[in-house]
Amino acid sequence: MTNPSLLILPGDGIGPEVMAEVRKIIGWYGDKRGLNFDVSEGLVGGCSYDAHGTPLTDETMEKAQEVDAVLLGAVGGPKYDDLDFSVKPERGLLRLRKEMDLYANLRPAQCFDALADFSSLKKDVVAGLDIMIVRELTSGIYFGEPRGIFEEGNERVGINTQRYTESEIERVARSAFELARKRNNKVCSMEKANVMESGILWRAVVSEVHEKEYPDVELSHMYADAGAMQLCRWPKQFDVIVTDNLFGDLLSDAAAMLTGSLGMLPSASLGAPMANGRPKALYEPVHGSAPDIAGQGKANPIACILSFAMALRYSFDEGTEADRLEAAVEKVLADGVRTADLLGEEGVNPVSTSEMGDAIVAALEASL
Ligand code: NAD
Repeated sequence: MTNPSLLILPGDGIGPEVMAEVRKIIGWYGDKRGLNFDVSEGLVGGCSYDAHGTPLTDETMEKAQEVDAVLLGAVGGPKYDDLDFSVKPERGLLRLRKEMDLYANLRPAQCFDALADFSSLKKDVVAGLDIMIVRELTSGIYFGEPRGIFEEGNERVGINTQRYTESEIERVARSAFELARKRNNKVCSMEKANVMESGILWRAVVSEVHEKEYPDVELSHMYADAGAMQLCRWPKQFDVIVTDNLFGDLLSDAAAMLTGSLGMLPSASLGAPMANGRPKALYEPVHGSAPDIAGQGKANPIACILSFAMALRYSFDEGTEADRLEAAVEKVLADGVRTADLLGEEGVNPVSTSEMGDAIVAALEASL
């Protein structure tokens, strides 16, 4: 049997620093759990521009289409601010998302008990929180036509169009139901069917997919504005939330911030299943290249490590090993190990990026 394949694109700024810690984790899984990956590496963003004059070469794009999963660090930095729009580092990331047709963006909001004090909400509201927002990423109001600013009579009018086809709703609904089956088997779909026709269609199609293909999963519906209130009031009532591009943009940022630092937040973007049944997939931390701390060994590698945990769960069917890795992160935090971004308590000395990675590997070792 061939090993699952993984393309690693560390990128710019702190990207290579946090990715170095993920490599330690991958090495540990190979040595201690017999879980080996065919790992290849490539350039994306500013470093690719420096080497090749483009933020993503065709060869790297082709490789990304072939592998079972792509793991990306971060792109960008002040050095590239004045580049032409067409070769800016972010274009590399956008090309990956577009050409891989990654229509389901997964943003977990997970609160480790040891960090519950970082939330702006009360500790008992967020401690132990573990929910997943699935946002439709390639359609909806950010893409619908007509769009633009037009003259109408003697004033200007700004127009954007919310547009969803049945098949676009069906495929993201399937992603959400599949995820729920790997979690706590509950999906809440959010739209505004009370005031938007696209919301009426969204609700109907999600219900049809549920009835025909996923009757074993519990499905509920909520208007997105009520959903926003419920996320702040009692977020633990949810497991998987599926919603459109616009509402997902807002709800996923709000939900993620319930849980504290940017250095802790992973994400995944999934596309259609490939011939082997695995979805096309790109995993990446939510944070950027953090030029203010790059090269200083201060970056928190946990967001990138948890992105790899998502890859274990959603691309490689290694849910138990994903649980092990998340538990190792939880243990290290409970033991009081903190990178500088997680400091709050007095008298705690921050550890470096590399020390945090070592502590997580030690916790993995202790889990055996
Ligand atoms: P950023 O996420 O890079 O940094 C925001 C703040 O959070 C900074 O103070 C940074 O030090 C801190 N931070 C971020 N990640 C951290 C980590 N892992 N550990 C500790 N602290 C962390 O956002 P920004 O400053 O707005 O953008 C910097 C560059 O990154 C820009 O060029 C931007 O375009 C790019 N960017 C890339 C991505 C991506 O690659 N997906 C996402 C956002 C921004």
